[in-house]
Amino acid sequence: MAEKTRERIAEMKANKPQPLHEPLIFLGAPGAGKGTQAREICSRLGIPHISTGDILRANATKQTPLGLLAKASMDRGELVSDEVINEMVRDRLSQPDCQNGFLLDGYPRTLAQAEALGALLQERGYGTPIVVNLRVGYNIVVKRLGGRRICPVCQRTYNVNFHPPLRDGVCDADGSPLQQRADDREEAIRERLLAYEAQTAPLIEFYKKGGRFFDIDGEQEPEQITGELARLLEVQ
Ligand code: AMP
Repeated sequence: MAEKTRERIAEMKANKPQPLHEPLIFLGAPGAGKGTQAREICSRLGIPHISTGDILRANATKQTPLGLLAKASMDRGELVSDEVINEMVRDRLSQPDCQNGFLLDGYPRTLAQAEALGALLQERGYGTPIVVNLRVGYNIVVKRLGGRRICPVCQRTYNVNFHPPLRDGVCDADGSPLQQRADDREEAIRERLLAYEAQTAPLIEFYKKGGRFFDIDGEQEPEQITGELARLLEVQ
């Protein structure tokens, strides 16, 4: 290769814009508090919060082909196929708002997804992701999921066991009747926890080997967890 060409390639590589933040991945069982913490950290860092569950639910509400395909598995508490999810994430990460970093919540959830993500991050020139596992015991998770109620208008989340609304079944902020997610019913909760144990929990060992893995006690008060995350990620 001519010297000039080699120099130009080296120059182009050096000038390639690097993302401001490494990709962040929040791991943890359903109900571990990933979504709550992800919203807070993303707003402080100014990066997009990419929740595969939220994307699927938005598609299900709009009855898109993806939503119609995923809804039955979601309502039963089963995982949607790796191919569908990997394609959806590849698409989302191509959008310009992901250039300076992003936080993945609820993805990857299987080893096949973790491998696909690793290849994608390498292909796009992102560094090794920082992985945070929110650790929560089984009984707490069941209480959190079973008691969760959501305002369909402002998305505020309540819990009838830990953080009830002022008036039963009604959002404090806008008075809308609160809803329960179809997959927060007892039968689906059991399925989701089985899927987590069998398919997602092994990712803890997978990412521990990668070296940028951190474990946080997810049973603390939400503000304490945010504090630990902020120190870890050096966020104000
Ligand atoms: P979540 O809001 O993260 O609890 O996800 C709700 C549901 O969406 C899950 O129970 C699955 O049915 C589906 N889902 C979300 N993320 C994934 C994923 N990474 N792989 C497979 N299914 C997923």
